[in-house]
Amino acid sequence: MLPDIKSLTREELEAQFKTWGEPIYRVKQLMDWLYVQRVTDWDAMTNLSKQLREKLRSEFSLGTLKLARIQGSRDTTRKFLWQLADGAFIESVLIPANPSLYGEASDRHTLCISTQVGCAYGCKFCASGLDGWKRNLSPHEIVEQVMSVERHCAAEEAAIAGKTATSFPGTRIVDNIVVMGMGEPFANYDNLLKALRLLNSPWGGRIGARKITVSTSGLAPQIRKFADEPEQFSLAISLHGATDEVRGRIMPVNKKYPLKELTAALDYYQMQRGRFITFEYILIAGVNDAPEHARPLATLAKRLKAKVNLIPYNTVEDLPWSRPDEETCEQFLRALRAEKVVCTLRREKGHDIDAACGQLRLKRERELAAG
Ligand code: SAH
Ligand code: SF4
Repeated sequence: MLPDIKSLTREELEAQFKTWGEPIYRVKQLMDWLYVQRVTDWDAMTNLSKQLREKLRSEFSLGTLKLARIQGSRDTTRKFLWQLADGAFIESVLIPANPSLYGEASDRHTLCISTQVGCAYGCKFCASGLDGWKRNLSPHEIVEQVMSVERHCAAEEAAIAGKTATSFPGTRIVDNIVVMGMGEPFANYDNLLKALRLLNSPWGGRIGARKITVSTSGLAPQIRKFADEPEQFSLAISLHGATDEVRGRIMPVNKKYPLKELTAALDYYQMQRGRFITFEYILIAGVNDAPEHARPLATLAKRLKAKVNLIPYNTVEDLPWSRPDEETCEQFLRALRAEKVVCTLRREKGHDIDAACGQLRLKRERELAAG
């Protein structure tokens, strides 16, 4: 199988073009076709010579993701289930900035993307890890989630206007990326960084580094490595427990990197970056939602100057946990605010579709396995 063109960094493309005796500005033109126009066919790249297009075609594939299912409507949060070339499934979730109340679709969107098929970390509340880890995504499979969603939306807009879209110049539908889909991004570090650089590159996706947030379950060595990268990508930590006792109960990764080690890595990140981090904290009934759990969380958040996102647990089939009632969530929020912690509580309804990544894919895999 040929390597995919969207797995090559700008530097790798430049090296390739140099060996072919092609000028460097051709790389810029190629990247424009790939990441701005988002074409899916070599022949659409009309400002590249026929000879160069043939060379590219014989050395690289130009893969896309196959849309297997879509859940949700145009003006709300939507889940895309993709099938990869080897048959595996992954998910991306498109979230409008201001979910529409009056039927007007928002033009600003956050896209939540996946980095692995399955996940090896087995957090006890998460659907992504239920059937274990299958494989890492390659850079083009990470980047292509953004391109495929944008192609889909542009084609949809065109259809509404009674036109057919073949290329989509300039219109960026996704302006925020959160790497919070299936998989542990830092367990696929090199491919992740390649993909993020392509999405961030002024010749590529042109999405600001600060508008790209990576979420990790707490892989301390990679947090330090991430702190040393030149780009200002943002960082979120799936905390879910502010003591080793609570965190260890629901996140096996806490045995490998207990809070002491995790927070030392975050101190290093703070020192290198001077940037805020975000703690994600799922509220799970009877596990981490009592006032006594809020105190150590407030201490940790203040020490690390972290913002806290409280997320009421989304029910996952086959798992024993449940979300606390509204008043318990509000109380937890008030307890943190009383300690002067910057925090938010996700309050939207209809969490069946807003449910964390991994569930749609798991369902599909299981349907297929059952024949
Ligand atoms: N592996 C990375 C990124 C993917 S998980 C990480 O763990 O950070 C993205 C987020 O979804 C994490 O904060 C995770 O804890 C959260 N999540 C997983 N299952 C959930 C559920 N059932 N309800 C709410 N959030 C969930
Ligand atoms: Fe993996 Fe993140 Fe889910 Fe944990 S929460 S199992 S690390 S995807």
